[in-house]
Amino acid sequence: MAAAARTTTGKLFVLSAPSGAGKTTLTRALLAADPALRFSISFTTRQPRGSERDGHDYFFVDPARFAAMIAAGELLEHAAVFGQHYGTGRAQIEAHTRAGHNVLLDIDWQGARQVRQRMPASVLVFIMPPSLDELERRLRSRGTDTEEVIRRRLAEARAEMEHWPEFDYLVINDRWEEALAALRGILAGHGAACATTAPAVRQRAAAILAGA
Ligand code: 5GP
Repeated sequence: MAAAARTTTGKLFVLSAPSGAGKTTLTRALLAADPALRFSISFTTRQPRGSERDGHDYFFVDPARFAAMIAAGELLEHAAVFGQHYGTGRAQIEAHTRAGHNVLLDIDWQGARQVRQRMPASVLVFIMPPSLDELERRLRSRGTDTEEVIRRRLAEARAEMEHWPEFDYLVINDRWEEALAALRGILAGHGAACATTAPAVRQRAAAILAGA
């Protein structure tokens, strides 16, 4: 028997943030709240951290395998972040969207830019901490990275945050429940209050980057 034709294909929702902005926790909460939502498990050449599992948090691959995937056109986007390679598997995304599932991508601004070019209907969301001081506090309290890594990530966080205007929406993770509600609104198509074109949003972002 022929399968019923699908009339809806899923959408891509890209979430980018400097590390320490709370993106991983928010992503988990979004997935828990919507069983139809899928997570794009990225490929990376970095080593697993803590309780991370292969095929769950990331697909951990060696640099040769990663290069072969690029050459074969198997990655929708890829970028070097903190000296390691990260990329989104094209087949996984296509399988989910063809089955009608929306997909969350936890990727950096470089990847977000490539996704926008290749799949213009994607929705791009940037998550910011409420201040640079708070970001530093969160990075230190995580306790999983060395001092050298923390310093490098702090230095890169600011540069990463400068890219917020390239995104459709900005969510500031001050109060966690509010940030989650804002993200759920964006996924449901009600994100106007977080649009990066909104004057209040632009002012807030500028204040955070100015160290206010
Ligand atoms: P982490 O090593 O802390 O898990 O991730 C470091 C950074 O790499 C984060 O900003 C994360 O969003 C980004 N990242 C993870 N997967 C991908 C990916 O597939 N593509 C791109 N461009 N960035 C990714």
